[in-house]
Amino acid sequence: MNKQDTKVTSVPSPHGGSWRGATFHIGGVHPAENKLSAASPIRVAAIPKQAVFSMFQHIGAPAVPVVKMGDEVKVGTLLGEAGKGLSVPVFSSVSGKVNKVDAVLDSSGTRRMAVVVDVEGDEWEESIDRSDTLVTMKDLGNITAEEVVNRIKAAGIVGMGGATFPTGVKLMPPPGTKAEAIIVNAVECEPYLTADHRLMLEKPEQILVGIQLIKHAVNCPKAYIGIEMNKPDAIKLLTDLLKEKAAQYPGIEVVPLKVKYPQGGEKQLIDAVIGRQVPAPPALPINVGAIVQNVGTVYAIYEAVTKRKPLIERIITVTGKSVKNPSNFLARIGTPMQQLIDEAGGLPEDTGKIIGGGPMMGRALMSLEVPVTKGSSGLLLMTEKESRRGEVSPCIRCAKCVSACPMGLEPYLLASYTRLKNWDGCEKNDVTSCIECGSCAFTCPSNRPLLDNIRVAKQTVMGIIKARHMESITKK
Ligand code: SF4
Ligand code: SF4
Repeated sequence: MNKQDTKVTSVPSPHGGSWRGATFHIGGVHPAENKLSAASPIRVAAIPKQAVFSMFQHIGAPAVPVVKMGDEVKVGTLLGEAGKGLSVPVFSSVSGKVNKVDAVLDSSGTRRMAVVVDVEGDEWEESIDRSDTLVTMKDLGNITAEEVVNRIKAAGIVGMGGATFPTGVKLMPPPGTKAEAIIVNAVECEPYLTADHRLMLEKPEQILVGIQLIKHAVNCPKAYIGIEMNKPDAIKLLTDLLKEKAAQYPGIEVVPLKVKYPQGGEKQLIDAVIGRQVPAPPALPINVGAIVQNVGTVYAIYEAVTKRKPLIERIITVTGKSVKNPSNFLARIGTPMQQLIDEAGGLPEDTGKIIGGGPMMGRALMSLEVPVTKGSSGLLLMTEKESRRGEVSPCIRCAKCVSACPMGLEPYLLASYTRLKNWDGCEKNDVTSCIECGSCAFTCPSNRPLLDNIRVAKQTVMGIIKARHMESITKK
């Protein structure tokens, strides 16, 4: 990761004057932006010859396959129903014949249950409205809040910024809580990624209708769209649209945000936009009256509710300094990553590392045969030079990692507890609050693998907490 500082504190506003931009108050870093594909309009990726649909594309219980080898499916056919508890269904994004239902390698490097479909033609379920016509709230008549949430659940929508939390569940605030602000996460603070930026430029009004649907679903009068100031065209477009159609889209405001990573972290965004602090887990944003939805999710909500379209495709950025045509693709879920790389001009010779997601939070891919999933926001082909890690040297106790941490943690301490397998120390020092943003590792002059260490600790401590919880339940 290039450590060049690209601090932006204010930018000229297209409306005159300048935006200073709101921001979060603890930590943060300024990695080089490298938004190479920002000017590339969304291209429809080719339909793959074979598509792979993992049953593990979301947080919670996996979906359960409902098809078998040899079954004929269409675009929009249910392949896997939601599992027990927290889960969502999975739909086919292609038409053809089921080749197998079996464990297949996914982006985590694990073999997991999936449905593989050999593609024939492009036949869609008739229930899906494939027209481009804008459907407004007025067109939806007296649609109830319950119906909106039901359509979202039925469409298998999850957080598309990468979190993959089932959206329908997020839109049912637990008893005792109330949504006071919907915050649309249109920050896209990860370097290189531009999918959300292009979506705002190309589908602005659909996004506004999607926001109205969320407001309606949770009975919340106010919504904010948080956008980093490195996307002035999107800020201007949405602000102008809201001004021009104020009566049609009331209670929605665009909030220009300072360019600072991780501005798009849920807690950081809530702090920046409404100035509220979400306490440590298990507290949720709704405990301070906020519901955060990624802008891609908002668009998927629009399509699910107005077009009855399940989550079968998404926009994904394919980029890198040596990539011939850094691109934003509208890709069918299940498309092999290799195909998207081919469409972006092929794998550059000097590729050193392939990352699913952005350079700060993304993870290295084990194979290019892994498919696009609901949470795939980007594919970054890092050059050999970029992917070379600096030599690790001893910690010099400079505390830069502490200053950079947006969660107020002590990364050097957590990392050394991890090496000592001192899980109690990790838990006491709030490792579960880590949002895995990578700011600590980015800023460390000794190139210590802080994020790698802390991820291990977080996973281990969460397992310990879960086991403890199960034990206390069985004892009762
Ligand atoms: S990865 Fe975790 S510990 Fe490191 S800066 Fe981000 S939140 Fe803090
Ligand atoms: S930034 Fe690196 S060298 Fe400095 S205290 Fe943290 S771990 Fe140690």
